[in-house]
Amino acid sequence: LTVNKELENQKYVAENAAIELERYNEQLEQSSRYKSEFLANMSHELRTPLNSMLILSQLLTENRNHTLTEEELGYASVIYNSGSDLLSMINDILDLSKVEAGKMLVEMDAVNLTELPSLLQGYFGKLAEAQNVEFNVTLNPEVPDLFFTDEMRLHQILRNLLSNAFKFTEQGSVTMEITKLAAYSDQSYIAEGPVLAFAVQDTGIGISEENRELIFEAFRQVDGTTARKFGGTGLGLSISQQLAQLLGGHISLESEEGKGSTFTLYLPCRELDSEEEPFHPAEL
Ligand code: ADP
Repeated sequence: LTVNKELENQKYVAENAAIELERYNEQLEQSSRYKSEFLANMSHELRTPLNSMLILSQLLTENRNHTLTEEELGYASVIYNSGSDLLSMINDILDLSKVEAGKMLVEMDAVNLTELPSLLQGYFGKLAEAQNVEFNVTLNPEVPDLFFTDEMRLHQILRNLLSNAFKFTEQGSVTMEITKLAAYSDQSYIAEGPVLAFAVQDTGIGISEENRELIFEAFRQVDGTTARKFGGTGLGLSISQQLAQLLGGHISLESEEGKGSTFTLYLPCRELDSEEEPFHPAEL
C-alpha cells in the first residue's frame, strides 16, 4: 500500500512539473513574440521622423541659396551622416525582428551575376581607395550568368560581409571570389546539389577560435565595450546568417587571428535551364 501511495505521489509530482514546464514554454514564446512586435513597431515609428531629418539635412548640405557658412555646412553633414547610421541600425533591428518572427519574405527570381563585380566595385571602390586597401571581385568562368535567388537579400548579405571586411582591415586586401562547386558540406551545412560560393577574404585583424561562433549571434561583437574602436550593432552577421538560411544556404567562417578572415556564403546553384523542379522558398 505504501509503495502504491509513493508511486501515486511521484506521478502527481511529475504531472505537475510537466504542466509547469508547458506553461513556462508558452510564456517564453509569448514574450519572444511581444519582443519582436515591439521591436518591429518601434523601428517603424522611429523611421518616419528620421526620414524627414535625413531629407532636410541633405537639402541643407546642398546649400542651394548659398547662405550657409563652411562651418554650418559641416554641421549639416554631421546630422546627415549620423542620421544615416541611425537609420541603418533601425533597419537592422527591423530585419532581425522580421526574420525571428518568421515574417521575412524572400522573392526568388533570376539574378544576373555578370553585373555583380561592377556593382560591388561601385559600392566599395571609393572606400577601398580611401583606406588604401586593394579590392578585387572575381567571377570564375564556370559560374552561370543567371541563377535563382532573392537579389535584394543576396546583395544585403554580400554588402554586410564586405563592409565588415573593410572595417576590420587596415592594410592589404579585401577580395571576393565567386565559384561554382559540384557539391559542398561542412559541420553545419550539407548542400543538396551544386552550390555557388561567394568567398569574402580579408587580411584584417582575424577572429579568435572562441569568438568564431559567437559573432553570428545577435548583438555579439568581439569587442563589446563602449570604448571599442569600431562602431556597429553586432546585428549584421546574425541577420546575414539567417537570410542565407532562408535562401537555402549558409555562411561559414575561417580565420586566423592577426592574419585575416574568410566568410563564405554558400547558396544553392539553381539555374534557369535546370532539369530540377522550380525552387519554391516555401519548401524551406
Ligand atoms: P557589427 O559589425 O555591427 O559589430 P556584425 O554582426 O556584422 O556586427 O559583426 C559582429 C562582430 O564580428 C564584429 O563586431 C567583429 O568583432 C566581428 N567581425 C565581423 N567581421 C569581421 C572581420 N571581417 N574581421 C574581423 N572581425 C570581424
